[in-house]
Amino acid sequence: MPTNNQWTLSIVVPAFNEEEVLPAFHQRLTKVLEKLDCASEILYVNDGSSDATLKVMKGFRDPRVAVIDLSRNFGKEIALTAGLDHARGEAVVVIDADLQDPPELIPELIARWQEGYDVVFARRSARDGESFLKKSSAKLFYRFIQGVNRVKIPKDTGDFRLLSRRAVEALKQLRESHRFMKGLFAWIGYPQIAVTYRRDPRFAGKTKWNYWHLWNFALEGITSFTITPLKIATYLGLVTSFGSFTYALFVIYKTLVYGDPVQGYPSLMVVVLFLGGVQLMSLGVIGEYMGRMFNETKQRPLYFINSFSPSTVHDEAK
Ligand code: UDP
Ligand code: MG
Repeated sequence: MPTNNQWTLSIVVPAFNEEEVLPAFHQRLTKVLEKLDCASEILYVNDGSSDATLKVMKGFRDPRVAVIDLSRNFGKEIALTAGLDHARGEAVVVIDADLQDPPELIPELIARWQEGYDVVFARRSARDGESFLKKSSAKLFYRFIQGVNRVKIPKDTGDFRLLSRRAVEALKQLRESHRFMKGLFAWIGYPQIAVTYRRDPRFAGKTKWNYWHLWNFALEGITSFTITPLKIATYLGLVTSFGSFTYALFVIYKTLVYGDPVQGYPSLMVVVLFLGGVQLMSLGVIGEYMGRMFNETKQRPLYFINSFSPSTVHDEAK
């Protein structure tokens, strides 16, 4: 592991409508970078912002800054991928622009990387400024995905982490269009370790995640990493068929022994409606997976770049 200033650290920052925070973010980040004994480049990825984010990025008079301007808004996961694709450093740090991930943690991440870890992820110890509902739904989601998966996705982590060069190269080979990054980071394997920190509330601007987005994010996470829901549908089907079969035996027996007075309309309705519901739900589950297969089979490129201005600092170093 290189320890002198022969190596370069890349910082990947996806940003969507972050004009309010970016200047403060850049200032805090550069303060941290100044103290490191390595070269660095900062890759700002403008994810189709509709405000002045791109202008702010291009306005930084700093040779370390590279600006990737995507052709439209592709979502954070893809913006991040675009950054990783263009990062040239021996180690790459992925960080949010809204200052919820403290740049001051970067030296600690580097220290663990120098100890030989390939993925050093920042684990938050507290979620300040987030609602009870958001906290508890996040907890439930992680519990589910931990429970059903062979790949252990670490709890309470965002995308804030450091990746070694070989981890980045591994990630670059995963080109699926439904990208659940946290899952992908875990899937590649290699030695991984957590560093704990306090997650601050957003510095300025608004979160782009409402509950509908979070729900979709959770669906994405589950459907791209496990087929357990499909299996649940199968077993639910088995259990209900077995139940109805025994019930049928009981009904036949009752008819033979006690005759057949017209009865049981309510129970009939209950069974029909219940089975109808189960069937529709299972169809929906299958649909979720089929839709994703449909999207993946198109094999489209993940993103297009409107303009790219690389950092110049790396060239000087060579
Ligand atoms: N982001 C992005 N594209 C999007 C949405 C978000 O690049 O479509 C960026 C955003 O600018 C920020 C990071 O992803 O740097 C995290 O977004 P946000 O703070 O809204 O998410 P949260 O912290 O609430 O999970
Ligand atoms: Mg945030």
